[in-house]
Amino acid sequence: MTVWRTTVLTLFPEMFPGPLGLSLAGKGLDDGRWALETLNIRDFAADRHRSVDDTPAGGGAGMVMRADVLAAAIDHASAGGDARPRLLMSPRGRPLTQARVRELSDGPGAVVVCGRFEGVDERVIAARDLEEISIGDYVLAGGEVAAMVLIEACVRLLPGVMGNEDSGAAESFEGGLLEHPQFTRPQVFEGREIPEALISGHHGRVEEWRRQEAERITRARRPDLWAKYRGK
Ligand code: SAH
Repeated sequence: MTVWRTTVLTLFPEMFPGPLGLSLAGKGLDDGRWALETLNIRDFAADRHRSVDDTPAGGGAGMVMRADVLAAAIDHASAGGDARPRLLMSPRGRPLTQARVRELSDGPGAVVVCGRFEGVDERVIAARDLEEISIGDYVLAGGEVAAMVLIEACVRLLPGVMGNEDSGAAESFEGGLLEHPQFTRPQVFEGREIPEALISGHHGRVEEWRRQEAERITRARRPDLWAKYRGK
């Protein structure tokens, strides 16, 4: 069994595994289906104050993470011809998609750098060929929660991590559409019934209802996804 391996570079290693240690991701971690290593970026600081950041060149508010310290941490994580992609969580990155998640989870793992303060010195991004990834158009205080989002999305796709192996295929984004609505017992909740097609026991009708609903919801909520879906 090949193990999906992730190394997280952070100033707050004690945040991990956090939510990744619970539920299905946590069970997968315990079962050895994926592995998590954290490196404290501060351990790679060379001066006696162990400083990892400094004031921005050109002035202005906040602090910037030093390129040399970060590069040393990345080199440690990627030593020995490590083929894992090196990612930097960043609001300026390419927005994370299910397609990229699937590629990453099909690979050997990832080295994930978490920024703090105003971000990282631009030169380390180029020098270590970091792929910047954003989890959405808003600003977090640090990359750790964003890294957890990325890692959770990847590990749930690993074989044996999710209970139901095919629940992946029909999910939101997988077929270019959002998922159809879901229902379970009781049959009537506060006067609202489960749609008739779903209790018909007729496989073809169920499939047809789900496809129509997935299309209706995608068209209404995500015109961008709908346009792409229609175009292909
Ligand atoms: N000054 C920066 C924001 C820094 S936020 C700017 O305006 O672009 C501090 C760190 O949090 C970032 O370095 C990054 O690692 C993380 N972060 C913040 N928002 C994020 C997002 N939407 N996606 C991924 N990482 C994010």
